[in-house]
Amino acid sequence: MKILSTISLVIVLSIMTAAAEDTRPNIVFIFTDDHCQQALSAYDATRIATPNMDRIAEEGIKFNRCYVTNGICGPSRAVIQTGKHSHLNGFIRNGNTFDGSQQTFPKLLNVAGYQTAVIGKWHLKSTPQGFDYFDVLVGQGPYYNPPMLYGGIEAEASKRSHVGYTTDIIGEKTLDWLKSDRDPEKPFMLMFQHKAPHRNWQPGPKYLTWLDGQEIPEPATLFDDYSNRASPAANQTMEIKTHMNEKDLKLVAPNNLTPDQAKAWNAAYEPKNEAYIAKRGSMSEKEIIQWKYQRYVKDYLRCVKSVDDTIGDVLDYLEEEGLADNTVVIYSSDQGWYLGEHGWFDKRWMYEESLKAPLLIKWPGVIEPGSVSNDIVSNLDFAQTFLDIAGVRIPDDMQGESLVPLLKGETPSDWRTTFYYHYYEFPGAHSVARHFGVTDGEHKLIKYYHLNEGELFDLKKDPGEMNSIYDSPEYAGKRKELEAELERLQAFYQVPEDPMRRSDQPRGKKGKKN
Ligand code: CA
Repeated sequence: MKILSTISLVIVLSIMTAAAEDTRPNIVFIFTDDHCQQALSAYDATRIATPNMDRIAEEGIKFNRCYVTNGICGPSRAVIQTGKHSHLNGFIRNGNTFDGSQQTFPKLLNVAGYQTAVIGKWHLKSTPQGFDYFDVLVGQGPYYNPPMLYGGIEAEASKRSHVGYTTDIIGEKTLDWLKSDRDPEKPFMLMFQHKAPHRNWQPGPKYLTWLDGQEIPEPATLFDDYSNRASPAANQTMEIKTHMNEKDLKLVAPNNLTPDQAKAWNAAYEPKNEAYIAKRGSMSEKEIIQWKYQRYVKDYLRCVKSVDDTIGDVLDYLEEEGLADNTVVIYSSDQGWYLGEHGWFDKRWMYEESLKAPLLIKWPGVIEPGSVSNDIVSNLDFAQTFLDIAGVRIPDDMQGESLVPLLKGETPSDWRTTFYYHYYEFPGAHSVARHFGVTDGEHKLIKYYHLNEGELFDLKKDPGEMNSIYDSPEYAGKRKELEAELERLQAFYQVPEDPMRRSDQPRGKKGKKN
């Protein structure tokens, strides 16, 4: 009798399991590289229309203050995987190798029954772990004809080559996975990650001549002379004026194109280049900067346009298949970017344009369409948010916060009001001094700790951050308050006490120990 009842129980449970559909939401995380708010029309429509990214904002929420903890490619990705600051996840600068054996949110979702996949740019050096399927660019990846590495939890990693435009290839692979590889019995978490619009901004065949003949507005700070700030702003190597090479400016064609790709490329660029070279000798220095700016920004926008098209295809597919209602779609980028502000291209600084990433989220039935948030949120929060969406327990050692209450329009009363930033990559590309800092969204304190210099900005009065008030008596109280807050946050996040003691400290006089 007892045996019989046990068998009955097993049968009943099996039937229940089979009948109970797993209704946990799917997660599609769309991620780009170096895409700033200034080139996304839901934030700023002066340069480009991105109708498909805007769909996510219109149907969901736009975060105006999504700050990254360390504004550079690999570190941002490692923060997202782990929900931990760089000094704890171990990936503090590009060139590091991500320790894939540590706890990551894809692993936790996978163990909890989610089907997990990552397609596109990975850029953490070590082979992805915790994904049923991965198909990722090798390293940084080229804009055309990329080699990619595919595999998964139960498959050895293998390399294969492709012919075509990388943005389109990543978009097609994402659709293919949704169509052919998705397990309809399980919820899924899909990371759909583009290389674009990373340097050096090579447009796809469809947009090679798009924006020709148009003038893109110049930012107010294009001709910044770096006065009234600490010394690092003047000592970087990321100026449009000086530091762009011939490949950046497309005065030389990419060297990995097929004959057909090269033909289309040259037909688009050669006439424009010939016109520029013919008049270059008679142009003023200012006119040359303006020409470079137009060339650069248009190529960047062309790359964004192709990304937006692929997002439209994925959103359409989710709708057509009836998946959209139970799928959370997130759009973000690994940091922001300078579209000529301060005369720059690139990222790295704690200044607004690169500190802020775009963050758009739609979740039908949960997020009020058209919501806008000014709360301080971060890429540090993504891991916990995804776990919370899936109803998976959040480990205590993650350092962010779940955004789910904010998505429901219920910001907790103790939500963070200040934010900690730390950039480490010096010496390194573009020579940006190491710095950490704190902002409350209205004021910002930056410490260039190897140089014993600092900056303080009043973002309301000086949104372009052109005039540091670090030594202004009027702001002495504010500086003191933010210095105390910086210390508090460093203790809270378990930042090593003396960053000068790190083994990869810069060489040279300024970096030497006393
Ligand atoms: Ca990046």
